[in-house]
Amino acid sequence: MRVLSVASEAVPLVKTGGLADVAGALPAALAPHGVELTTLLPGYPAVLKALGKGKAVHSWPDLLGQKARVLAGSLGGQPLLVLDAPSLFVREGGPYGDAGGQDWADNWQRFAAFARAAAELAVMQEFDLLHAHDWQAGLAPAYLRFLHGAKAPPSVMTIHNMAFQGHFGREIFPALGLPAEAWSMTGVEYHGGVGYLKAGMEAANIITTVSPSYAREIRSAEFGMGLEGLIASRGARVRGIVNGIDPAEWNPASDVHAPAQYSAASLARRRTNKRALEAEFGLDQDDGPLFIVVSRLTWQKGMDVAVEVLDHLVANGGRLALLGSGDAALVAGLSAAAARHPGRIGLKIGYDEGLSHRMQAGGDAILVPSRFEPCGLTQMYGLAYGCVPVVARTGGLADTVIDANLAALAAGVATGIVFTGVTQMSLADAISRAISLYRQPGVWKTMQRAGMKADFSWASSGALYAQLYQEVVRA
Ligand code: ADP
Repeated sequence: MRVLSVASEAVPLVKTGGLADVAGALPAALAPHGVELTTLLPGYPAVLKALGKGKAVHSWPDLLGQKARVLAGSLGGQPLLVLDAPSLFVREGGPYGDAGGQDWADNWQRFAAFARAAAELAVMQEFDLLHAHDWQAGLAPAYLRFLHGAKAPPSVMTIHNMAFQGHFGREIFPALGLPAEAWSMTGVEYHGGVGYLKAGMEAANIITTVSPSYAREIRSAEFGMGLEGLIASRGARVRGIVNGIDPAEWNPASDVHAPAQYSAASLARRRTNKRALEAEFGLDQDDGPLFIVVSRLTWQKGMDVAVEVLDHLVANGGRLALLGSGDAALVAGLSAAAARHPGRIGLKIGYDEGLSHRMQAGGDAILVPSRFEPCGLTQMYGLAYGCVPVVARTGGLADTVIDANLAALAAGVATGIVFTGVTQMSLADAISRAISLYRQPGVWKTMQRAGMKADFSWASSGALYAQLYQEVVRA
């Protein structure tokens, strides 16, 4: 089976979040199941550079008003297509906005052109199925349905985060090149404007999201963010498949970024990493519990609540090393806490892949107090690295971490601390529980080992996607 996977980012070429990890890992995860997954990416400068010359396989004199062509190459041995449209994608800054974090004003056009190219390629190159990721690819299933009709292959729409929906004003509709009938409640119209994610959810044969719990949660107003009605109406067509992690990238026994490599049988070697991490963050050197955070600094991630509990964390003998970037107000709150607690709280504001590995390899526990979390990867990296996750009971966090309640501890299956409700009190309580478990070395080690044994490789999720593809293509 040949599938066109349409994503606006993929490791190792371009990454702003978990979507990139997933889009980058899917081709290798599906290959053993007889699925050839071709990834289509926008031609950002970094993507064009990695592609090299590429082979032009198609061109448009006028793709939504822009000149564009498609270049073919490969990504990690798997087929790659790149939409080369310099007027849309070759610019300085990030994939969605300028260096100052301001969204590009023409994002509606950039990702409509991307989706339209995807739909045309899927038909022209006779793919068996189109797999669209997030709002940036959301119009692709709609273009298939409204422009290609019976010739169109089926499609799957995956939601990596319901909070990002690609909602634009109604004035853009004429420029999309869709027929008038697409302007309807079951088409692309959404609250008087155009909803890209909504359009994909309506037009795709199946909707998936990245954990079973999040698939349930988005039926409620709290998590559905306005799309809960649509999710509920498509009931049986909504599935949850948890993300895997890439063992080639995230394996403590072969991690190239960490000073010391280790396995569940050699946990003592983590001490070397802990010392190095303390030094890197300017923290006191001691054997007390060292918490880490690797996160976007946003409300979603509960970072405002984290800021409020830092005094508690320090008062109870904890230290924190935090790596992240995001909201200025949160950075200010964290900086103030670090200034109050020199040697106990260390910050690195920015994005640093290597450091994120060293933190998982040297920290004792990772805090993930998200208000909602479609899947979450950092808690899975923590599990794989023996860096015990302390997580909110939501979405993928609830699906991947087993709370250290008495029964789970007695059975030796606990892998972390799961707390309910993202409040100052519940997070402070979870931190206290973590510290008290940490002070029982035998119990802690059993938790670390249980997490490291858990299988979050792509093997099982790859099989589930392959099964789903088969089901959609045969229907
Ligand atoms: P989301 O996609 O919502 O940001 P995930 O947990 O699914 O959250 O994925 C986040 C990914 O980005 C993980 O691979 C994590 O290690 C990485 N990450 C987040 N912030 C940083 C940072 N400041 N530096 C390095 N890696 C980061």
